[in-house]
Amino acid sequence: TIVLKNVTRRYGNFTAIDRLSLQVEAGEFISFLGPSGSGKSTTLMMIAGFETPDGGSIAIGGRDVTAVPPYRRNIGMVFQNYALFPHLTVAENIGFSLKQRGVAKPEIATQVRRALDLVRLGEYGTRYPQQLSGGQQQRIAIARAIIFNPPVLLMDEPLSALDKQLREEMQLEIKHLHQRLGITFVYVTHDQREALVMSDRVAVMDRGKVEQLASPADLYGAPANRFVASFVGEAN
Ligand code: ATP
Ligand code: MG
Repeated sequence: TIVLKNVTRRYGNFTAIDRLSLQVEAGEFISFLGPSGSGKSTTLMMIAGFETPDGGSIAIGGRDVTAVPPYRRNIGMVFQNYALFPHLTVAENIGFSLKQRGVAKPEIATQVRRALDLVRLGEYGTRYPQQLSGGQQQRIAIARAIIFNPPVLLMDEPLSALDKQLREEMQLEIKHLHQRLGITFVYVTHDQREALVMSDRVAVMDRGKVEQLASPADLYGAPANRFVASFVGEAN
């Protein structure tokens, strides 16, 4: 469970996130959906620990992590620009952080194999990133993020660089991965259809606030206000 209480983030005089409170249940697939600049990435970065709130608190699994650095939050993260190391093989990319932590080689190999199988790229360990398609590279970025068995995986517009067909394939792929892993997925997108298709619940954001947090069916059937109705309606 992730609990945000009155989380606020300002840049100078500008309030990017305005007293945001919400709860993400363990194991659910939740998306933050909203127009550009609405505060989706900022919210995700604060959950990950790369941004610090100016007010409010964040708890993960019952532990207050507001002042805990990212590497001690036990969270996996896939960024928009997933930058794999070009000079390392796929397997080395995935195992990189384990190696940094001094994990023994055979154990790294086992974990890398498991992660590669989970994203269904078992045969690609010895390739280099530039020898992979965009979708395959994105799956490697996901494998790298789940190598620690994190209870939470955060993804910030992971598919925005891909063409429409590949994006739809990867949406299904990520949904299946969520079902197989059974961990909490927090997903950021500005694509209404993507959020509605993939998520158990969607937090619709506008100007630093969550306008509504509900199931896709309820966002359609019972939108909280005009913004939600028109923004979600654009999926049609
Ligand atoms: P997008 O869909 O374009 O990625 P977003 O919903 O992720 O948008 P954020 O990146 O969270 O939006 O930004 C929210 C607001 O905070 C924006 O108005 C942005 O300009 C502002 N902002 C974000 N980071 C900074 C920063 N480092 N300095 C100043 N303003 C910032
Ligand atoms: Mg963003």
